[in-house]
Amino acid sequence: MVKNYMEEVVRNLLNNILKTDQNYDNICKCERCLDDIMAIVLNNLKPYYITTKKGEVYAEYTSLETQLQVEIISEIIKAIEFVSTSPNH
Ligand SMILES: [Zn+2]
Repeated sequence: MVKNYMEEVVRNLLNNILKTDQNYDNICKCERCLDDIMAIVLNNLKPYYITTKKGEVYAEYTSLETQLQVEIISEIIKAIEFVSTSPNH
C-alpha cells in the first residue's frame, strides 16, 4: 500500500498546534475548516510517499528531518490564519 505520509505528519502537527497554542482557542475547528487547512498545507508541501505495513509509521516519523518539520509547521500556521480569517462556510 502506498501512502502520502505527509498527510499523517500534517494531521498530527496540526492537532498539536490547535491544542497547545492559545492563539487558536477561538477559531473554528469544524471538520470543514480542518480539511481546508490540511488541503492548503498539503498542496504547499512535497508529498512524502511511503509503502506501509502496520507498525512502520512511527519509525518513519522520527526519521523526518527537523528542518522539514519546521517548514511544515510554518505552512500549517499560514493555513490556519488563512482559513480562520475566511472560513468556507
Ligand atoms: Zn469551520
